[in-house]
Amino acid sequence: MPVYNFSAGPAVLADSVLNQIQSELHSVNGSGMSILEISHRSALFDDILNETTANLRRVMGIPDNYEVLFMQGGGTGQFSAVPLNLAAKNKKIALLDSGQWALKAGQEATKLGFDVDTLATTKDTKYQQLPTSDKVLTDDEYNYLHIVTNNTIEGTAFHQLPAHGTTKLVADMSSNFLAEEYDVNDFDLIFGGAQKNLGTAGVTIVIVKKDLLGKANNLIPATMDYNLFAKKNSMPNTPPTFSIYVCGLVIKWIESMGGVKGIHEHNVIKANRLYNFLDESKLFNNFVSPQERSLTNIPFTTGNEALDAQLVTAAADNGLMNLKGHRSVGGLRASLYNAMPLAGADALVEFLHQFEKQNR
Ligand SMILES: *Cc1c(COP(=O)(O)O)cnc(C)c1O
Repeated sequence: MPVYNFSAGPAVLADSVLNQIQSELHSVNGSGMSILEISHRSALFDDILNETTANLRRVMGIPDNYEVLFMQGGGTGQFSAVPLNLAAKNKKIALLDSGQWALKAGQEATKLGFDVDTLATTKDTKYQQLPTSDKVLTDDEYNYLHIVTNNTIEGTAFHQLPAHGTTKLVADMSSNFLAEEYDVNDFDLIFGGAQKNLGTAGVTIVIVKKDLLGKANNLIPATMDYNLFAKKNSMPNTPPTFSIYVCGLVIKWIESMGGVKGIHEHNVIKANRLYNFLDESKLFNNFVSPQERSLTNIPFTTGNEALDAQLVTAAADNGLMNLKGHRSVGGLRASLYNAMPLAGADALVEFLHQFEKQNR
């Protein structure tokens, strides 16, 4: 029986990537040494890092006026790093509160003494829609607008970016990085942890406009200092070598799948298989309006807690793993990240169909 892993993160990796990790584990690039044991100061690792950066630039279309940084601390670390590196305390940070990850980002910035202005929130309706604001944003009043392109827990996504006037745009792309096509030029900064679409836990990618570096007047810990990371090729200290290596393999795999365009098309097909089923089902519901639905995280429910729990167990017995919804939302959630094959989405739909027949 095939096993499909619908975990929200760390999450599924392509079989070919796992196979390559296994086959090279004792000897990376024919060196006779494992990626787990080589120095980050070796030429061997330098090549891996530089090739990974070059490949990410190509696959994502990252222009030369942006830095690509490999950091640690996860998306959560960036909730502090972004304000420390980009924000001045005499201006505000604008926030569109689209879910729990947006809320947490705002809380971290507030903790550090920054003035966070929540322009709009959809908390009162359980974040089942995206917040919108008509406020005209200016660079004089705001440091930047923080958005979460894909709301991992609530299952919404900004497929169209919100207006941000003359202020900068910062995006937490943790859960749809390279999963749908965005133009890097539309952002001043993008960040995302690798463990959802791009590899394994331990590395966080930051893509930031070069002319924003070294401008802020805050005390910045070395492990969060973009300017330092840019100057030191992401290695002011020991980087997460294995995680960066895995990112490199995943990026090559994405290129082999037709790049972000190919992956995006694949993700639309996969997600629609599940959404179409849910919309026709008399047992299951997803509450997000079609134009705001996430391609990568799909929450749904029978509306009956006990039945949802029963489903999670029955699904696992059938090789469909980790369908329990986030603890704050309850219900069910299927994460269909880049590496989830269409066969996995189809197996899930088939299982839900049978479950519905038996439980109506
Ligand atoms: C998972 C996630 C985070 C947190 O990532 P960590 O690496 O666990 O800190 C932040 N934002 C979004 C949108 C996420 O999906």
